[in-house]
Amino acid sequence: MATLSFDEFMKRVVERNPGEKEFQDAVKEVMSTTWETFKANKRFVDANIMERIVEPERIIIFRVPWTDDQGKIQVNRGYRVQFNSAIGPYKGGLRFHPAVNLSVMKSLAFEQTFKNALTTLPMGGGKGGADFDPKGKSDAEVMRFCQSYMDELYRHIGPDTDVPAGDVGVGKREVGYMYGQYRRLTNTFTSTFTGKGLAWGGSLVRPEATGFGAVYFGEEVLKRNNETFKGKKVVVSGFGQVAWGVAKKLVELGAKVITISGPDGYVHIPDGMTEEQVEYMLEMRASCRDRAEDFSDKFKNATFHKGVKPWVVPCDVAMTCAIQNECNLDDVKTLMKNGCKMILEVSNMGCTLEAAEYLREQDIEFAPGKAVNAGGVATSGLEMSQNSIRMSWDAAEVDKKLRGIMKGIHDVCYQYGKQDNGKVDYVKGANIGGFMKVAEAMADQGAI
Ligand code: GLU
Repeated sequence: MATLSFDEFMKRVVERNPGEKEFQDAVKEVMSTTWETFKANKRFVDANIMERIVEPERIIIFRVPWTDDQGKIQVNRGYRVQFNSAIGPYKGGLRFHPAVNLSVMKSLAFEQTFKNALTTLPMGGGKGGADFDPKGKSDAEVMRFCQSYMDELYRHIGPDTDVPAGDVGVGKREVGYMYGQYRRLTNTFTSTFTGKGLAWGGSLVRPEATGFGAVYFGEEVLKRNNETFKGKKVVVSGFGQVAWGVAKKLVELGAKVITISGPDGYVHIPDGMTEEQVEYMLEMRASCRDRAEDFSDKFKNATFHKGVKPWVVPCDVAMTCAIQNECNLDDVKTLMKNGCKMILEVSNMGCTLEAAEYLREQDIEFAPGKAVNAGGVATSGLEMSQNSIRMSWDAAEVDKKLRGIMKGIHDVCYQYGKQDNGKVDYVKGANIGGFMKVAEAMADQGAI
């Protein structure tokens, strides 16, 4: 192993994971930036950390049969990738989306491993989900699906083994149905899920946490440049829970949130969103509407742009809050040409690998999802702590801890990513910060 070059290592990864483009890209992104650190550490080389760390500890793939409202039996494919538990129980969300496949699951679980390590909380990395599309399904269908999904998953998870949560397509409702079934099957009330309802073990601030945390991270980046969010024009994509949390905090800080978007196109709000409009995002979600156009129908100061992504709108800051690979090389070039000075990846791998590699070389602040969006899983960690001590903290307490964690993540990225010319390579900083902790733990624990 010690004699392998990075290119030879990647060739092996590609051969061992054929056709899994998302996973190969995720490995390339992390390993290209940590390779020198790895090579310089004899312990890591002797323990063959590089080849071990890209191999998931366990993958569970299962059939999920369910009956639709017409009485017809449908089938989907369920996944749980238990990637790495060297620093704590597997932890990561469940995604229900038609684009879910093994490669997407593995790439997200791999990323989650380093993200969770960055939070400083004791959480390993996992991810799961199904190629089930909750859109257009009745509430009863969603419940039957969630129950069937849990009928298999329950035996693989537990408060000290693997703790799932929500992700794209899995919100409080789905977590509720899955947790209910888990509780019934195991006859235990434990902290096996996070993102729970407040009445049954959830944490205050968890719904807002990913968005709030992303803005707190952005504040730290701006602080380095002696700036704040006040008056900044921010282009936001998405309109789900993450985009909502981002918009809510930005409006509170006096920034102008000038776009949100859906699968149908983007909405332009030139004067910036009002608090009322931020709240309306919640209403749209609650009624399962997935068209951004619904938003512009309701407000006169908003215009809808069909089939276009929001990256064409001139701004100071852009935040990807929808899904992976939503911002490509052309998009980032357009953003920069129009004067954008900071791009924060809030969705997991929101920028394509090509776009992220390009941004690292440019005179722009760019920070990756595994650092920027870690506030969500960090607050899940805080939910687990509260469950363990059987107490709940008030919102101010959770928010204070979240803010502290985001500052800590920023500082670690700075420590490992600072360059001679004063620029901070946040991609490299986040990857090395996360990698060091997981690699140390693996080296300490022997060939496991
Ligand atoms: N799905 C979120 C993420 O990507 C949250 C995971 C969790 O809370 O476990 O980090």
